[in-house]
Amino acid sequence: MKNYQEARKTIQQTALKAYREQLVTGTSGNVSLYDRENGIMAITPSNLDYQVMAPEDIVLMELDGAVVEGRHKPSSEWRMHAGIYAKREDVTAIIHTHSPYATSFSVLHEGIPVILVEMLPFLGGDIPLSQFGMPGTFELAENALAVMKSRNSCLLMNHGVLVIGKSLEQAYVRAQYVEDAARICHYSRQIGQPQLLEENVLEALREKYHLTR
Ligand code: 13P
Ligand code: ZN
Repeated sequence: MKNYQEARKTIQQTALKAYREQLVTGTSGNVSLYDRENGIMAITPSNLDYQVMAPEDIVLMELDGAVVEGRHKPSSEWRMHAGIYAKREDVTAIIHTHSPYATSFSVLHEGIPVILVEMLPFLGGDIPLSQFGMPGTFELAENALAVMKSRNSCLLMNHGVLVIGKSLEQAYVRAQYVEDAARICHYSRQIGQPQLLEENVLEALREKYHLTR
């Protein structure tokens, strides 16, 4: 993150895209980037219409909650983002959505098994379900981290989707693949019983993409 103006713009554009592509409804969801070198997290403000949100509305803050710059309150989920950045040094971008197909699995208290080959390179494997955590708490981050050891996404129980990455471009594509896998899992269930990728295929895919279990 070289300059925050660029980071703010990327965050605002990513959030607006998520809204337009219906990965979020109303003002739900939130997007952040972390400048690990300087300890600054840039995050969407709480409860602001994505259609009017400007790059200047993005809040700059430290991981302990201290706001460095911002004319709005930071996302009510700043602790979830901060908790992940604090524990996962490989993560510099986070997107939280309420995308409808994926969220419906979180309501069923089900993760999404590995049904598509793309889930390996993009998501690291299946989409696990994390334990319930109250909105706005560090607990959400802890519960998500517990199931994302070698995964790039998870479902937040009765809530939505969490996706991590090294850039927002990467995290956004992952958020799209989460929703795509959920939609296809849902469709396939309408006409039969989804069959999972076999273990020997999974093993070969893990090797191909240098993934761990
Ligand atoms: P914010 O508008 O405060 O970011 O909250 C949206 C959300 O999805 C809460 O879980
Ligand atoms: Zn949410």
